[in-house]
Amino acid sequence: MSDEMQPGAEKGASISQPPRREFKARGSFVERCTDCRLPQLNCLCSYRTSADSQARIWLLTHPLEHYKPTNTGRLIGDVLAETRVFTWYRTFPDEQLLALLDQPGFAPFIIFPDDHSDYADRIVGQDAVEDAKSAGLIPVFIILDGTWRQARRIFRRSSYLDRLPILPLETQKQTRYRLRKPASPSHLCTAEVAAELLRQNGDVDAADTLDDYFDTFNASYAASRAHHKLEQPTAAMARLLARKAGRR
Ligand SMILES: [Zn+2]
Repeated sequence: MSDEMQPGAEKGASISQPPRREFKARGSFVERCTDCRLPQLNCLCSYRTSADSQARIWLLTHPLEHYKPTNTGRLIGDVLAETRVFTWYRTFPDEQLLALLDQPGFAPFIIFPDDHSDYADRIVGQDAVEDAKSAGLIPVFIILDGTWRQARRIFRRSSYLDRLPILPLETQKQTRYRLRKPASPSHLCTAEVAAELLRQNGDVDAADTLDDYFDTFNASYAASRAHHKLEQPTAAMARLLARKAGRR
């Protein structure tokens, strides 16, 4: 991806040429931080901080998502160092993922909605996660990272996932994500899904930190799109800075 400079291009000023504006909305020409990939106007790096959790997150990411700077899955690994990211390919599974699925000590769960009867026998609840922890296993939440359509495709076309229990995320929360328009307010983005799973698992500190980091990403990116430099830290930013100072 080239980041040729054309300041202000991301917002897209032309109303008379919608296709061009749509192209520009992807932000190819904005000058980005090489670390966090956000527009440099409001870089995320100074807010990056880590947390610990009992549960692990593994992402199975659609190849098209890796290149999108608006992808929120990558935020999870910034906060939780043990996060694993695998690229999903239709034709062959990731060898490392297959090996990890067979490794004793982990209890992997696929995170997916329970809206089809043909896999109803695989649906479990948080009690199954608690049982796994009681048995000394590390719960692993496998999140299919892509659009909802891509996630469905990954779910349907990955036979190596068929033996795993499915844990639907039960939440009334609505998405706070401002960088892409969701099909429904109840469609949480990947970082929000991870934060809710961690919270329900009792990993409250990790969930709070990821939530704040996601809020910071959201606010920073949205401000940059409006060519606005955030001069004052938001409440989430202030909490992350205090956390970083405390962990030094
Ligand atoms: Zn940065």
